[in-house]
Amino acid sequence: MTDRQRRVTTADVVVIGGGIVGASSAFWLARAGLRPVLVERLETLAGATTAASAHSVRAQFVEPENIAMMRESIETYERFPEVLRMTAEEADIGFVRGGYLFASTAPGSVEIIRDRVAHQRANGLVDVEALDGNEVRYRFPWMDGAVVAASYRAGDGWLDGTRATEVLVRASGATVLLGTEVEGIVCDGGRVIGVRTDRGAIATHLVVLAAGPFTGILAGEPLPLQLVRRHRLIVAPRSEIPAGAPMTVDADTGAHWRPHRGGALVAWARPDVPGPPLAPVPPDPGFPAMVLQDRDGVGRLTPFWRELGPTLRASDLDLAAGQYTITPDHKPLIGPAQVTAGLWLHTGYSGHGIMGAPAGGRLLADLITGAVGPAENPFRPDRLTADGADGGDNERMVL
Ligand SMILES: Cc1cc2nc3c(=O)[nH]c(=O)nc-3n(C[C@H](O)[C@H](O)[C@H](O)COP(=O)(O)OP(=O)(O)OC[C@H]3O[C@@H](n4cnc5c(N)ncnc54)[C@H](O)[C@@H]3O)c2cc1C
Repeated sequence: MTDRQRRVTTADVVVIGGGIVGASSAFWLARAGLRPVLVERLETLAGATTAASAHSVRAQFVEPENIAMMRESIETYERFPEVLRMTAEEADIGFVRGGYLFASTAPGSVEIIRDRVAHQRANGLVDVEALDGNEVRYRFPWMDGAVVAASYRAGDGWLDGTRATEVLVRASGATVLLGTEVEGIVCDGGRVIGVRTDRGAIATHLVVLAAGPFTGILAGEPLPLQLVRRHRLIVAPRSEIPAGAPMTVDADTGAHWRPHRGGALVAWARPDVPGPPLAPVPPDPGFPAMVLQDRDGVGRLTPFWRELGPTLRASDLDLAAGQYTITPDHKPLIGPAQVTAGLWLHTGYSGHGIMGAPAGGRLLADLITGAVGPAENPFRPDRLTADGADGGDNERMVL
C-alpha cells in the first residue's frame, strides 16, 4: 500500500497522521474529488492511539451533536462495503453488535438514567432502553445484586479499529507515505504552502492535521487540548467470562469490560496527570491489579471478576496504553485552524475517536468543499479559546 519509494512533491491535500482520524479524513476527501497524500511517521497505519483503543462504539451520549455523530458513524461502519464500494470481505472490520450497558448501584440513579434515556430518545436515539436492577439481572445474570438501574442499547458494540483504518485508507486511493515524519507546516503570508518532511518537501495549499496527541505540536498555534494516558487490558480466554456480555460500564466508577475473543477487554477511566505527547506511551504495570482487584474496579458490578482477577497471571494479560487527546467540552475539533489559512484540524476525540471518525471525516470534507457552512458545524475549533473558555455544554457521558 505504501508509496514510500515514490518521490511526492505536490498534493491536492496532505493528511498528517495515519490513525483512524487521518484515514477517515483521507477517505472522505477522496470521495469529494481530492487526491490526498497521507503522511505517517510510523511504518504502519493505526500504530499509535488507534492501536491502544478499546475499539468500542456507542451512540449513548448526552450532547445532541455527539449522539448524531456516533449514530452516523455506527451506521457507516455497519454499511462499510456499500459506503466504501468494496466487497463484504474487503470491508470486513469485525463489527459486533454486542450492546453497551451503563449500570449503577447509586440510590437515585433510577431517575437519573430514566431522564437521560428520555433525553436521548428525544434526540433521535429511539432504541436506548432504561432498565431496573431486576431487568438487568434477568438479561445479564452475572450482574451484581446491588445494581439498581442501567441504560442499554443493543445497537452499540465494537469492531477492529486497526482494520477499519486500513480499509478506509485503501478505499481512499490516497498516496500513503509511511515511515515519513512531518517536521513542519510551511506557510507564506499566513497561508499553507506545503509541509516539510524528513524525506523532502511537499507543496500543497491544504493540510489536514490528524496527528492525534502530536497535533498541538504541529499546529503552530495554541490549541485547547490536554493529553491524558489511558490503559486497555486484554485478558486471555477463560470460561468464566460470558461471551454474550455487552460492553459493561460501571457508571459510578468508570471501570468497564467487554468480551474479546473468548476472553475480555478491560479498561478504566481513572484519570492520569495530563502530560506532553508520548510515542510510545509506557503503560503503568500496576494497572491490571488495580482494574481487576480494586473494590471499584470491574469486580464491583460483575462479581466473577473478583474470583477470576487474582488467578490471572502476567501471561494471561496484554496491557497497552495510549493518550486521550481531550478538549474541555469533550467534543472534537473539526474545522479550520484559527491563524493559518489552509490548515484544517481534525482531532480532540478524547475516548471517542473510533466511534466518531467516520462522521467526523465526512463533516471535515463537507466543510472543506463548502457543502456544509461553518455555522452548521458544532465542532468548530473556534468555539473554544486556547485556554478552553467559551465552549458550549460539556459532554457528560465520557469514559
Ligand atoms: C486506552 C484507550 C481506549 C480507547 N477506547 C476507545 C473506544 O473504545 N472507542 C473509541 O471510539 N475510542 C477509544 N479511544 C480513543 C481513540 O483510540 C482515539 O480517539 C483515536 O484512536 C484517535 O485517533 P487519531 O487518528 O486521532 O490518533 P492516532 O491513532 O494517535 O493517530 C495519529 C497518527 O499521527 C502520526 N503522527 C504524529 N505526528 C506525526 C508527524 N509529525 N508526522 C507524521 N505522522 C505523525 C502518529 O504516528 C499516529 O499514527 C481509546 C483510547 C485509548 C488510549
